[in-house]
Amino acid sequence: MSENRPNIKKKRQPVSDRRKFILNMARGAGLAAMGGFIWSAYIDEVTASTLLLRPPGAIKEEDFLKTCIKCGLCVIACPYDTLMLAKPGDNKPLGTPYFIPRDIPCYMCPDIPCVPVCPTGALDEASVTTDGVLDINIAEMGLAVVDADSCIAFWGIQCDACYRACPILGEAITIEYEKNERTGKHAFMKPVVHSEACTGCGLCERACVTEKPAIFVLPRETAMGRAGDYYIKGWDKDDEKRLEDASEIKTTTEISNQSAMDSLNDAGDLY
Ligand code: SF4
Ligand code: SF4
Ligand code: SF4
Repeated sequence: MSENRPNIKKKRQPVSDRRKFILNMARGAGLAAMGGFIWSAYIDEVTASTLLLRPPGAIKEEDFLKTCIKCGLCVIACPYDTLMLAKPGDNKPLGTPYFIPRDIPCYMCPDIPCVPVCPTGALDEASVTTDGVLDINIAEMGLAVVDADSCIAFWGIQCDACYRACPILGEAITIEYEKNERTGKHAFMKPVVHSEACTGCGLCERACVTEKPAIFVLPRETAMGRAGDYYIKGWDKDDEKRLEDASEIKTTTEISNQSAMDSLNDAGDLY
């Protein structure tokens, strides 16, 4: 996948005074919260973190909140001003880094400068490394989700803005063609996101032409379901491996002590 890395020119700039001020304020607020001055507000904001998008390589949210020391080094390292530290009133865990793709998405820097600077492992280099080389294409910041009701491509209006904006187009987003029965002579060109390739960078959300984006990024834990150990793709050797870790759950009732055949034969009254 690394050959698909985006070739985006960086505009590295000195950290502006305004940005320094915001960083310092956010850091200070984080420390104050830890000191107990606004502890209840801190707790409220912590509990609101399920929809937050974290920088590439961020560990599991629960561990991230314990590991990130709110130093802001990832924010300073980002050449696109994508990352911010949460300030009081943001309704986010104070002082922790996040981004809003509709404002500034992650431009998927090939050298991922925000990650190696993290002093605590809250941003885990190993999780964005392939064969010893940093690989932004395996980042899992979130997952893009399409709202078919507001996506105009699903109405039959031609639009592929999100598809064209995607740095991994053809893998993370594909276009599905379908005959438009209403007109009889046109085709729908529907964007479809693939969870195994989407990094959650949000370039698609940024590019979406609708008033409120019809494609938007959610944290993967929020956007994705889980089939569980009961359902295995028998045709997929990798998926079958999940059986090795599957835990057995047994429910014992009066009839479950009998064999299946005895149980059916004894259930005469029921049929
Ligand atoms: S990978 Fe994304 S978040 Fe990290 S420095 Fe580049 S643009 Fe910023
Ligand atoms: S560099 Fe690491 S510890 Fe510092 S704010 Fe970013 S994620 Fe938190
Ligand atoms: S968030 Fe959008 S642009 Fe980024 S990889 Fe996923 S589908 Fe592509």
